[in-house]
Amino acid sequence: MPPEPLLRVDALRCGYGRIEAVKGVDLEVAEGTVTALVGANGAGKTTLLRAISGVLPIRAGTIRFEGAAIEAMRPHERVARGIVQVPEGRQLFAPLSVLDNLRLGAFRRARERTRRNLERVFALFPVLAERRDTPAGALSGGQQQMCAIGRALMAEPRLLLLDEPSMGLAPFLVEQILETVARLREEGVTVLLVEQNAVAALSLADRGYVLETGRIAHAGSGRDLLGDPAVREAYLGV
Ligand code: ATP
Repeated sequence: MPPEPLLRVDALRCGYGRIEAVKGVDLEVAEGTVTALVGANGAGKTTLLRAISGVLPIRAGTIRFEGAAIEAMRPHERVARGIVQVPEGRQLFAPLSVLDNLRLGAFRRARERTRRNLERVFALFPVLAERRDTPAGALSGGQQQMCAIGRALMAEPRLLLLDEPSMGLAPFLVEQILETVARLREEGVTVLLVEQNAVAALSLADRGYVLETGRIAHAGSGRDLLGDPAVREAYLGV
């Protein structure tokens, strides 16, 4: 039997008021992999991530993490288990320094671990070490994204939910951020990645899902999806 995936979502439904944004989604994320979630604007990608992190209550279905049902847990309990979201738009505390933003991510971690995690973040993003005393609001877009990912890493994620990390960035920075995602995978972090840059995301991903108006339209290995003519034409613009 294949091992239990780190995350398993079954028949998930959720939305806002009368809008059902996610209409019965099944999805699995295997430990140690990058899984890409792609699809048009409004397909429900962000909504799905928010349901997994627990900031949006679900209406039906189950979410299992390491085999245990978590859909009734509060968001902070999910963080404590290792599910950490990097929200779309970064949402840093602009007036606070880089260092203080990173420390805010050190959710209930002991001081010694916080020091070690900070070293890890600075090793991954040396520019953040150089600019540790700079207000986050004064960083470039790429640096802000690094800071947002760094803040999430301070909470020692087992599953990192990354929402549009490349949004608004120049192409070479997009590449750099996606290289960082690959490096996190090498370090053993499992990643569920929502990306507008679908080709780049699927090229990196072990597995991918294409979401269309709240439903999974295609699923497969990143390579299979990239090679699927229906996916290429409808979603990849190639
Ligand atoms: P994008 O790439 O634009 O972020 P997405 O795939 O992440 O798109 P969602 O943001 O999850 O899509 O939106 C899914 C649907 O839910 C859309 O119809 C959207 O208008 C609606 N929606 C999203 N957030 C809210 C909200 N806070 N209140 C009401 N409707 C919402």
